[in-house]
Amino acid sequence: MAAESRTPMREGPRIVDIIARTRDGVELSRQEIEALVLGYTRGDVPDYQVAAWLMAALLKGLTPRETVLLTETMARSGACLTWPESLGVVADKHSTGGVGDKTSLVVVPLVAALGVPVAKMSGRGLGHTGGTIDKLESIPGLQVNLDIARFQAQVEQVGLAIVAQSPDLAPADGKLYALRDVTATVPCLPLIASSVMSKKLAAGAHVIVLDVKTGSGAFMPTLDDARRLSRTMIDLGTASGRRVRAVISAMDQPLGAKVGHSLELQEAVATLRGEGPADLTELAFALAGHVLALARPGVDREQAHRLLRSAITSGAALEKLRAMVAAQGGDPAALDEWQRLPAAPVRRVAEANRAGYVAAVSARAVGEAVVRLGGGRAKKGDAIDLAVGVDLAAKTGTWVARGDPLFTVHARDEAGAEAAESAIRAAYVLADAAPVAQPVVLDTIG
Ligand code: URA
Repeated sequence: MAAESRTPMREGPRIVDIIARTRDGVELSRQEIEALVLGYTRGDVPDYQVAAWLMAALLKGLTPRETVLLTETMARSGACLTWPESLGVVADKHSTGGVGDKTSLVVVPLVAALGVPVAKMSGRGLGHTGGTIDKLESIPGLQVNLDIARFQAQVEQVGLAIVAQSPDLAPADGKLYALRDVTATVPCLPLIASSVMSKKLAAGAHVIVLDVKTGSGAFMPTLDDARRLSRTMIDLGTASGRRVRAVISAMDQPLGAKVGHSLELQEAVATLRGEGPADLTELAFALAGHVLALARPGVDREQAHRLLRSAITSGAALEKLRAMVAAQGGDPAALDEWQRLPAAPVRRVAEANRAGYVAAVSARAVGEAVVRLGGGRAKKGDAIDLAVGVDLAAKTGTWVARGDPLFTVHARDEAGAEAAESAIRAAYVLADAAPVAQPVVLDTIG
């Protein structure tokens, strides 16, 4: 007779077997996905096992059924909100991640100023891209970790709120997101789709507009990848009864002129004053126009643009951002007096060493340079420097003479400034011929 095992039997699937199944391309069951995701959220499964599973998922992919199960499990790892009918249609907007992408800070107050309430959960920086939550934290005092009651009350009373994942709302995404950031497991279609849509489903908005970035600085380098990601996220949202539209936008060069948290906040505020760069303004208007069209059927494109322009010129959109900042405990005066925002002590201007047209400015190289300046994380929970970044004086299509400023680095010290200058110089391509202009919005789906 076989000797009885002295090891107590554990309930449920073993995590090591789940990792092996994904490594071997075998589809996971609901029970296995829940064991992994909810176990990790509770703190029962360690980082190293989940990191191994994430890398297996990135290398082998997940099936459509696994992607649905993962999204549902992540959304239900915390509360899933509903909104009172009296609020009308509640909207949300999300970007898949870019460099210099501060559009949420423009779009959310813009549509809220026009009476569409926005309930938004955002993320921190991911890989070489910046996150809205980190950018908002450059405002002194501003809190992003609101509990559910405060989040709901703010949307109902002020008309907008942007919060981070919390122990109550999409906690699984909060933990997985931070781990993906430092394990090179971000650029994976099903992981991005489930991360984005779990937050959107948990926050409960009825209409969702997605900004799906494509290009060398995006997690989806090709238009085909971006279309596949868009369709996956639209399907995840419509299966839960949401109206979802995806705008595919270019991310070969940084969006706008400023990259870095405090600098990007300043550029978003300038855009809300009607003084923003053309590409950011165009994209923000396109996204906000889709939010209005979904939330207010009958509003056509031209009407939407007229309304959006009036929210800028009247100051109503900027006033909404001020109201949100104040409601979240931040200093609204910082939106007018930029000396109240974090500023880097060292500024270094880089000049063109030849005349020519700027043919390219690699978004990825600029994003990575800002991460190395201290603007991103190397390890989970690292503190980041909200003051550092780069201000681009010349973008693709600009003609520069030799000696004209190309960009200014904002750094903590001279060594950081020097390293960033050479990395960002390498991101620039100067040519004799003008490049073909590329549109900002490449496609719209849904
Ligand atoms: N935004 C998210 O919320 N998650 C991702 O994985 C990428 C962008």
